[in-house]
Amino acid sequence: MEKTAVGLVYECLRCGAKVSTEELELRGGEIKCTVCGYRVLKKIRPPVVKRVQAR
Ligand SMILES: [Zn+2]
Repeated sequence: MEKTAVGLVYECLRCGAKVSTEELELRGGEIKCTVCGYRVLKKIRPPVVKRVQAR
């Protein structure tokens, strides 16, 4: 299985559920909340802990 857009996550603006692109692909590639079915999702950063030095 191919990996696409690794780690990209959407957040549902209605119920706040976090949906990964992988899940969306499994459901036909539609941008749609897997919990409530709402179709307005916001792209968010995955919760990856990364140390970035502040200058
Ligand atoms: Zn939702």
